[in-house]
Amino acid sequence: MTETSKPLQAVLPSVDKVLRHDDGRALAEAYGRAAATDAVRAVIEELRQRVLGPGGEGADTAEEAVLASAADLLAAKSAPSLKKVFNLTGTVLHTNLGRAPLPPEAIEAMTLVAGGASNLEYDLESGRRGDRDVHVDGLLAELTGAEAATVVNNNAAAVLLVLNTLAKGKEVPVSRGQLVEIGGSFRMPDIIRRAGCKMHEVGTTNRTHLKDFEEAISAKTALLLKVHTSNYAVQGFTKEVSDAELAQLARKHGIPCVDDLGSGTLVDLAQFGLPHEPTAAEALAQGMSVVTFSGDKLLGGPQAGMIVGEKDLIGKIKKNPMKRALRIDKVTMAALSAVLRLYLDPDRLVERMPALRLLARRADEIAATGRRIVDPVSRALDGIAAVELAGCQSQIGSGSLPVERLDSAALRITPSTGKRGGGAALNRIAKAFRSLPIPVIGRVHEGAFLLDLRCLEDVEAFVGQLDRLTPGGASR
Ligand SMILES: *Cc1c(COP(=O)(O)O)cnc(C)c1O
Repeated sequence: MTETSKPLQAVLPSVDKVLRHDDGRALAEAYGRAAATDAVRAVIEELRQRVLGPGGEGADTAEEAVLASAADLLAAKSAPSLKKVFNLTGTVLHTNLGRAPLPPEAIEAMTLVAGGASNLEYDLESGRRGDRDVHVDGLLAELTGAEAATVVNNNAAAVLLVLNTLAKGKEVPVSRGQLVEIGGSFRMPDIIRRAGCKMHEVGTTNRTHLKDFEEAISAKTALLLKVHTSNYAVQGFTKEVSDAELAQLARKHGIPCVDDLGSGTLVDLAQFGLPHEPTAAEALAQGMSVVTFSGDKLLGGPQAGMIVGEKDLIGKIKKNPMKRALRIDKVTMAALSAVLRLYLDPDRLVERMPALRLLARRADEIAATGRRIVDPVSRALDGIAAVELAGCQSQIGSGSLPVERLDSAALRITPSTGKRGGGAALNRIAKAFRSLPIPVIGRVHEGAFLLDLRCLEDVEAFVGQLDRLTPGGASR
């Protein structure tokens, strides 16, 4: 301590004194006495370190300053970490950004069951315990033409459960061209092993023939597996066994044929101007015994894994004790059931399903949104970056139609640093957009920060927060 400094206790206010201040009382009222006390104590402790450190004489030790810091601390702590963002990445079904936006019908259904009791697993007719699958299995069967259906937590769980039920301790032949990895943690070989099965790789990366499967089948073979190569394409000199051939071979040997469709959709997307993706109904019609697919990819619903197929196989799958560990909760069930009911009216799907609406949005419509916001964004970035409306390409995402691109429009934001390699400036701009009250997530592409406007619908909310943009640093 230097000679001029007063004893610390004389400089720093006491926790009690701060809490007796009017603003201190207000904090305790808002956040609870214990939390407010902890926050004030933490701020005073930090201040103590600062005062003791170099240049500490300048630290503001007034009660008001302590209270302001404590209020910031409490606000940050009590703010939810999971929040709404603007997905302007150009990837519509972005796994890291929560995939499909849900339709209002699903949100309403979720709200209805979330806050109270429901007949989730209760048969209102008999007054006895029921089966939660009844809320979706009939709909799924109707929409896919399957004999039976069940549902679990996601498609990864669906694949795990199907393999564990039908092939535990036995061999599963699968093409080397289909050993998919989805986003790091889901790798087909690992899932097959974790399901208790032995993977039998057949064919090569680019070419797999029917005879490769034929030669692999033995008394140890439990089923034949097809995996949709959902996030990549094998192009060039290639050969794949068709669904019909594979299913027929399985039938000849009296074993099931299982198809992990990945995204899977219930309708032909070509009718909305999108590329065709195999539907669950098509896979079943080709003779697949069991088909699995995601709820929150092209289907546009909540995270869930659909399992549809032959009645006896679905029956076995439902009896597997792992089903209990992988089941979906009431809120998801409510959303899924509502989404599936919308599919009963395919003509109105694009207006009612947000995921399909965004995917089907035409480039000229998206550009019209761009014309509404290019000036406000330019003004917000005045002197920092140039903003122009440009054509771009969106992608569907979540391992759906990996090579297809959708024409779209974007704001192209180029830092006016002039220099090539203005990477730091770009990162600052990207960060400023991420720091908005509703964070805006874009992508860096060819020396510019791109905001793909395909998924921007709430223009007012987007423009309304631009005055909070601080791309030059917090000082602005
Ligand atoms: C996406 C995908 C999965 C995993 O589905 P989730 O619903 O994300 O668990 C499995 N297989 C394929 C082929 C996929 O595309």
